[in-house]
Amino acid sequence: MSGQKKDVYLVIGGSGFVGRHIVEQLIAREDVVSVFDIVQRHHDVPFYSGDITDQSQVEDALRRSGTTCIIHTASPTAGAKDPSIYHKVNVEGTKAVIAAAVAAGVPKLVYTSSAGVVFDGNDVINLDERAPYPEKPFDAYNESKALGEALILEASGKGGLLTVALRPAGIFGPGDRQMMVGLYQAYQRGQTHFQVGDNNNLFDYTYVGNLARAHLIAADKLVPSEHDAADWQSDTVTLTDKE
Ligand code: NAD
Repeated sequence: MSGQKKDVYLVIGGSGFVGRHIVEQLIAREDVVSVFDIVQRHHDVPFYSGDITDQSQVEDALRRSGTTCIIHTASPTAGAKDPSIYHKVNVEGTKAVIAAAVAAGVPKLVYTSSAGVVFDGNDVINLDERAPYPEKPFDAYNESKALGEALILEASGKGGLLTVALRPAGIFGPGDRQMMVGLYQAYQRGQTHFQVGDNNNLFDYTYVGNLARAHLIAADKLVPSEHDAADWQSDTVTLTDKE
């Protein structure tokens, strides 16, 4: 990054678990950062209240904040009562984020995808980013994450935009409102005496601080001048606990 102008960041979904850690790491390295979200949970950075399904709200925040790099980590949480919310936010909302980025001339977009985009309920071992999306998605949430990710990757190199998608599996760490809560509720219900599979199942969990750092590294790597724009390939990165 030496000699390069520093980016101005907008963390979409920055009030959430992962988004919050990304914001904190950007602040720690003295970057300029704002948050765009439907709820405000933190008050130490400029906040833009809005819904990503409304392109004009995203575009307005991008222009007002002078954003040069979007980190889009917004999504409804798993287990929604009405699964249509996933398509609305993760597919239509992501489409609106891309359109807003192109309209506002933002050159960089980092997307939090999910390892679930290549999971159909059957074991998958040693997959990498070349694996195709499954014909039958696991559920509405994972289907919407895959469609959103595909939009992000297709957008790379078009309209002056470079994109990257990260695929975390389970995420743990301070501020988690899903994983540990779910495990604790299962414990409280006494649901502790069961085994999944033959007890050799593997699943990758990523510490939220490492995932936040991966977003910053990915953003830093999206440098058009280092690549021939015509040859630029969008990228997907699958995170495992070994990285
Ligand atoms: P989270 O619910 O804590 O944060 C998501 C944020 O997005 C929230 O602040 C929410 O208000 C915001 N948001 C939701 N809909 C929005 C909309 N329409 N417009 C603007 N903001 C909106 O979730 P998280 O655990 O921090 O997840 C972050 C990302 O990581 C998501 O994209 C999720 O799909 C992905 N992911 C999470 C996990 C996990 O285990 N938590 C695993 C794999 C992938």
